[in-house]
Amino acid sequence: MSTAHLTIDLDAIVANWRSLDSATDCETAAVVKADGYGLGAVRVAKALAKAGARRFFVAAAEEGAQLREALGHGPEINILSGHMSGDTDMIGDLNLTPMLNSVDQLTRHVEALPNTRFGIQIDTGMNRLGMEPSEWAAIAPIAVRQRPTLIMSHLACADEPNHSANQEQLKVFKEITEGLGIRRSLAATGGILLGKEYHFDLTRPGVGLYGGDPFGNAKPVVQLDLPVVQIRDVAVGESVGYGYSWTAEEPSRIATVAAGYADGLIRAMSGNTRLFHEDIACPIVGRVSMDLITVDVTHIKGNPRYLTILNDQQSVDDLAADAGTIGYEILTSLGARYSRRYMGL
Ligand SMILES: *Cc1c(COP(=O)(O)O)cnc(C)c1O
Repeated sequence: MSTAHLTIDLDAIVANWRSLDSATDCETAAVVKADGYGLGAVRVAKALAKAGARRFFVAAAEEGAQLREALGHGPEINILSGHMSGDTDMIGDLNLTPMLNSVDQLTRHVEALPNTRFGIQIDTGMNRLGMEPSEWAAIAPIAVRQRPTLIMSHLACADEPNHSANQEQLKVFKEITEGLGIRRSLAATGGILLGKEYHFDLTRPGVGLYGGDPFGNAKPVVQLDLPVVQIRDVAVGESVGYGYSWTAEEPSRIATVAAGYADGLIRAMSGNTRLFHEDIACPIVGRVSMDLITVDVTHIKGNPRYLTILNDQQSVDDLAADAGTIGYEILTSLGARYSRRYMGL
């Protein structure tokens, strides 16, 4: 096997969903946009549906269509980009629930698909998606009569518990939504951890399900094993890889493993991170290239067949920190070339 193995632990995803669910008294949905943060939306959503999740969120209607096909009629599938022009047939035929972001979207939806489900997104400060509070105020009486299934907003700084924006957004959200008789949702993973005030009727965790920060107690979900293509001896003064960026200062053994930046192991990891053989850390030396990474295995006995870059010892967030990014980006960049194996369920 010359491609790397990505092992995805569905039981760990379910356990993470359950523990985020047990942190609140309300319903817990699951966010599976971007193909389940790169781990396979269909597999993840099926596992979570079996565990009791009844609501899923995706970014685009196309993602919702794929999910509807996999999950059948039961679960509610919410579309965060709302009702975009051209999506009417998909939304109507597949019973998707758009989270409407503007008066234009609301008009489009009620005209094209009257008496079908929709939610409302309100901007409470992030200035990314949702109606402005003033916009909402103008159309609220009409919109409420159409019986939205959910009114929601999104926190911009929930991963920083002491950031003043959290309280400010909470206050705006409460003012806008109190007494409407519509179910409410404000919290993603970070918001769940901010406490009860932020929970309302429904939470929408994503990254925490997949083992990422800010859910510190998450179970690790992914393991990524890279096959060793060859191992060579490198003498003092010899260099390794593009740009000769690393030069041996002692007699070294260098393993070349089969994955690179085309597989989401971004070039910024060059020289900054490590792979593991059992629990021994082996530093990346030289530059990460498109399909290959060179690793110092001087201190390892024998010839390992695989070296591991993600496991219980090195999380997506550890790897992200080494590469100057966030766990979300590492997860969603995990490459299409990996052979994927699902554990559990
Ligand atoms: C992505 C997203 C979520 C999930 O966020 P996490 O930080 O991954 O838990 C929830 N709600 C909205 C609107 C999102 O865009």
